[in-house]
Amino acid sequence: MLKIFTKLNIKLKFQGAKMIEKLKKFFLSVILRRKYYRTGQCNACGQCCSKIYVKHYKHVVTDEKEFERLQYLHRFYTYLKVVDKDDIGLVFECINLDPETKKCRIHKKRPGICRRYPQEELFSMGGALSENCGYRMEPIVPFAQVLDKLKRK
Ligand code: SF4
Ligand code: SF4
Repeated sequence: MLKIFTKLNIKLKFQGAKMIEKLKKFFLSVILRRKYYRTGQCNACGQCCSKIYVKHYKHVVTDEKEFERLQYLHRFYTYLKVVDKDDIGLVFECINLDPETKKCRIHKKRPGICRRYPQEELFSMGGALSENCGYRMEPIVPFAQVLDKLKRK
């Protein structure tokens, strides 16, 4: 999940991103500077709470000692435990995720970063939705482009 959290501390969730999707996203967001809007809804699968990357400044956290220091910055970080490390960085799972029900145990008191997830900025900044996430990020087509297309019909 990229639940934007502060300008400097970002929670990233990349899951199952396929290369073609990455290239498409790069083209739309970096080359065309497209923005996105969110559609769909949460199906409560819990995936975005079980595979989490933490981005600090411009890098994804790969070092446990560094992460220990970050835990003083925000309550949300104290909920995360390291479950793996891959070629992106440390992989965290939230301790509040009920492994049986896949539901958040502190749903009513969950942090703002979780309430706002998934934010459109996440996608523009390189995050990706979990594989079976019920949300989708659609690129915003500028009005002039829509008009131009209609005129050509
Ligand atoms: S606090 Fe709840 S919603 Fe937020 S990551 Fe943890 S389990 Fe998910
Ligand atoms: S549907 Fe998406 S936002 Fe909802 S729990 Fe699953 S991965 Fe998270």
